[in-house]
Amino acid sequence: MSKVVIVTGASRGIGASTAKLLAAQGYGVCVNYRERKEQAQAVVDAITAQGGRAVALQADVSDESEVVRLFDDVSHRLGPVTHLVNNVGVLFTQSRLADVDVERFTRVMQANVTSCFLCCREAARRFSFGGAIVNLSSVAARLGAPFEYVDYAASKGAVESLTKGLATELAGQGVRVNAVSPGLIYTDIHADGGEPGRVDRIGPMLPMKRGGQPDEVANAIAWLLSDEASYVTGSILEVAGGR
Ligand code: NAP
Repeated sequence: MSKVVIVTGASRGIGASTAKLLAAQGYGVCVNYRERKEQAQAVVDAITAQGGRAVALQADVSDESEVVRLFDDVSHRLGPVTHLVNNVGVLFTQSRLADVDVERFTRVMQANVTSCFLCCREAARRFSFGGAIVNLSSVAARLGAPFEYVDYAASKGAVESLTKGLATELAGQGVRVNAVSPGLIYTDIHADGGEPGRVDRIGPMLPMKRGGQPDEVANAIAWLLSDEASYVTGSILEVAGGR
């Protein structure tokens, strides 16, 4: 059976790099996006220009019915989904926990945890023997992101628990579930947090003295999805320059 992967949130950043890499490795790729249609289409165009197979499909993956529709659409367009990268993640303006209101906390959980749960559940229901899932966590789950976004850190803690639990549930049917936990990576997510230059500010203080590139995370995701990681499940792989 040919390999078909959904990469959620693949219109930019780590998701876009991952979609391109997996297409180059022979996967049919769904480039999922929520708002940036043109950027998602540009990722698809780059893939097809290299002879790969990809479609851009809009869906808010924090919405149950949209997730079901997404899996159905991908199956019709590319074939049954065999692999999943839960890449979607959002954060909001840096602030102390004391200043975070319930609305923001709920939005972060909905975007980061509910989306991961819904896509994992859909995959668990549909994947037969074989297949693999990679969820995107963050070193924030371990560090807590104090004075920046404790809500985001907590959501990534939930992603790691979900990864561990589902990995054990699905191990017997040959479906592997792992997480990649990036450190500081050059993407636009930091501008969403109110500090576009955050990676350049903190990068030199890390053990490797630099921030990471999206491709360096994509390589780890692709390895965990691949048969080379055939005995790896329930693992959290940090890609964080030693932080
Ligand atoms: P990014 O550049 O901000 O991209 C986020 C992507 O998610 C966009 O393509 C966006 O699509 C999409 N998205 C957001 N909400 C969505 C939803 N409800 N449904 C569908 N798509 C949605 O993010 P990134 O920096 O590449 O991060 C990717 C993952 O790695 C995230 O889980 C993040 O938490 C994690 N991570 C990143 C870093 C870092 O330093 N960059 C560090 C640790 C962990 P639209 O633009 O079309 O809405």
